[in-house]
Amino acid sequence: MKTNIETKCVHDGWAPKSGEPRQIPIIQSTTFPYATSDHMGKLFDLEESGYFYSRLQNPTNDMVAAKICSLEGGVAAILTSSGQAANFFAVFNICEAGDHFIASSSIYGGTYNLFGVTMKKMGIECTFVDQTLPLSELEKYIKPNTKCIFGETISNPTVNVLDFEKFSTLAHSHGIPLIVDNTFATPVNCRPFEHGADIVTHSTTKYMDGQGVCVGGCIVDSGNFDYMAHAEKFPGLTTPDESYHGLTYASAFGKAGYITKITAQLMRDMGCIPSPQNSFYLNLGIGTLALRMKRHCENAYTVAKYLKNSDKVAWIHYPDLEGDDNYELSKKYLDNGSCGVLCFGIKGGRSESIRFMDALKFISIATHVADSKTCLLHPASHTHRQLTDEQLEEAGIATDLIRLSVGIENVEDIIADIEQALANI
Ligand SMILES: *Cc1c(COP(=O)(O)O)cnc(C)c1O
Repeated sequence: MKTNIETKCVHDGWAPKSGEPRQIPIIQSTTFPYATSDHMGKLFDLEESGYFYSRLQNPTNDMVAAKICSLEGGVAAILTSSGQAANFFAVFNICEAGDHFIASSSIYGGTYNLFGVTMKKMGIECTFVDQTLPLSELEKYIKPNTKCIFGETISNPTVNVLDFEKFSTLAHSHGIPLIVDNTFATPVNCRPFEHGADIVTHSTTKYMDGQGVCVGGCIVDSGNFDYMAHAEKFPGLTTPDESYHGLTYASAFGKAGYITKITAQLMRDMGCIPSPQNSFYLNLGIGTLALRMKRHCENAYTVAKYLKNSDKVAWIHYPDLEGDDNYELSKKYLDNGSCGVLCFGIKGGRSESIRFMDALKFISIATHVADSKTCLLHPASHTHRQLTDEQLEEAGIATDLIRLSVGIENVEDIIADIEQALANI
């Protein structure tokens, strides 16, 4: 009955019993007391499930995680305080000092820095690969200590679509899981588990929230990857955790082992849990996710066609546009369109781009993407301004690249604003 995504967005995660609140309750409490010492002890041993401290688990957070889990078709999920925390935990739950993993070089800059700089200091090495390379070339980057592969369904900011078939073949032929950041596509437009991904992450800060009110993240596990079958590679999941009474996550919890380890070990030791109040806001956002994604895609497609025909525009990249480099991948993996984000360059480069942006009326310059208000960013002048033109080129970001996040306003108004700003150059 509740099988379609629009219905799941509204209903899943919380089914009130007779007389209970219709909206999910905000359980704004750090602690959950128990009547007997024995009961409390069993919770700590993970012998019984129940809440005891919100750094590990909170009912409101769990309801929203359960909704996202259902949307993605996973077996278990956990919310985190940010998308950065989600991607860090997703990889760190598998890799430890001395391990190596592979990530696409087109991923979000914050994740690139986390993997390439911060995790390197923890003794975990990441190799960034050009995701358009053929499988035979990608295979050369696999080492004996490679533990996972990471990519984004649609990359931020370059909106390239991941070739799931190629990357899941690469991962699974070497006995390692594929982790996919599904932030831009959302489960409305792509469910990575249906295409071979094992773990999905989200920055819920973007479309899921949709209103730009709270930073958050989520990790969802498909339960499909069999860690026990490659036990020697993943000791953190397949050997006893001395810090948790000698528990072996993958055997004690089966398909829920991966997420249980994040809860019991990473959340316990590092925190990064969202506040229940933020999870409540996130849930309100997800209620309209399917409606909004449809509108974002329609609007972005119309704006993309407008920009393509403008003689002030040097180039445009939007995966749903016929003839785009990513058009075939978009048609193959993205059911209902890609997302509201597109990239383009203005003739005249840096200086004309700035003139264009400063002339915009309601479209704002913002370090944000993927929410209901149209906004844009020029990486060369903003997020990446410390880089030289050569360094930008290396990062795959053209100096004239403008990232436009098309919102849910009336598309005629969006185009009118762009048109009057382009007239200034
Ligand atoms: C924004 C973003 C992140 C980081 O998420 P935060 O919620 O800002 O920490 C990770 N991945 C992608 C694709 C993003 O767009």
